[in-house]
Amino acid sequence: MSADLDQHRQAYAYCAYCPKVCRFACPVSEVTRNETTSTWGKMTEAFLVTQAKRNLDESGAAALYACTGCMRCRTFCLHQNEVGFALASARSLAVDAGLAPEGALSTIRTFRQHGNPFGGDLAALASRYRADSPVRYQLFPGCTALARAPELVEDALAVCDALSAPAGVCRASARCCGYPLYAAGDIDGFVEHARRIAEALKPYPELMVLDPGCAYTFRVVYPRHGIELSTEVKTIYEVLATHLEHAPQLARLPLEAAYHDACKLGRGLGQYDQPRRLLAAAVGEFREAFESEAEAGCSGGGGLLPRTMPEASAEIARAVGQRLAPGGQTIVTACPTSRRTFERAGRRSKDLLSVLRRWLRPRKAS
Ligand code: SF4
Ligand code: SF4
Repeated sequence: MSADLDQHRQAYAYCAYCPKVCRFACPVSEVTRNETTSTWGKMTEAFLVTQAKRNLDESGAAALYACTGCMRCRTFCLHQNEVGFALASARSLAVDAGLAPEGALSTIRTFRQHGNPFGGDLAALASRYRADSPVRYQLFPGCTALARAPELVEDALAVCDALSAPAGVCRASARCCGYPLYAAGDIDGFVEHARRIAEALKPYPELMVLDPGCAYTFRVVYPRHGIELSTEVKTIYEVLATHLEHAPQLARLPLEAAYHDACKLGRGLGQYDQPRRLLAAAVGEFREAFESEAEAGCSGGGGLLPRTMPEASAEIARAVGQRLAPGGQTIVTACPTSRRTFERAGRRSKDLLSVLRRWLRPRKAS
């Protein structure tokens, strides 16, 4: 067993011998109604394969990918098992055996060719938002925002300006943080890529990161793979929350909002309060889901699930969207992937930064 897999030996065994304590918590098994995709089922597959008690086949490999890495099972686990982390390592067995789902293999191919999961040239996109003069904060938007939601980058920069936190997109943004390789199970490729990113980030003492998935990757996934950044990584939400005192006195937006805790921002980085303070400033009261913070529902957008199990991903977004906003409220989230996932599932959803920009937009005096 490789050292990367061996570190999860105990986690695999704990789950395999567990009486399925967190059975109700997993968004994937909730929609597939399938024991194979339960936390117990996926981790048992990893346990049996790594113990050489079973050969990995296509259906076993598919089970390893039936996880968004949302960490919701951890909330209810006495062992605090990091199932997403353990399954990401186990996916390397599926990649090596050529048994990984096509959505994962095509992600790896695209990443190897372009250095990001979307294809195309991120450097050209990032250069559009570079500041002309020195700025206080270097922004790392992440490739989902750059490639799929450039208006979100504009919103972020405008909000930073309005809250006296001038920012510009940093040069290092031309590269992806590497999370898609990690989630696809190309762990060696991820580590190699992450080392190059760590070098590219050396000139930056501090980085403000828009996408919680990238911030989580830098702050949690890199150190787990032996890569320590010399850069202090902050999310844009923790920075903006400290600048709220600079907000002009403005009327709140008439928006019926429901707040969604993004997994990597909430359970991943423990940031529950900062985005709520920002949203409350913009809209006043908003709906809290019955399950929130550490128990919050996952949108189904993580762990490459939209590429490996697109129907399950959409079904998760529909189910969680209904629980979050049963009265048709607008789901506000700090995760660009979650926003896209909710929208694809037919829910009205806005990114927190877009809501803030609308609130802070100069308005005519009434
Ligand atoms: S994550 Fe914890 S509670 Fe869930 S199956 Fe594994 S050991 Fe049991
Ligand atoms: S991390 Fe999330 S998706 Fe993965 S097994 Fe746990 S609850 Fe399910």
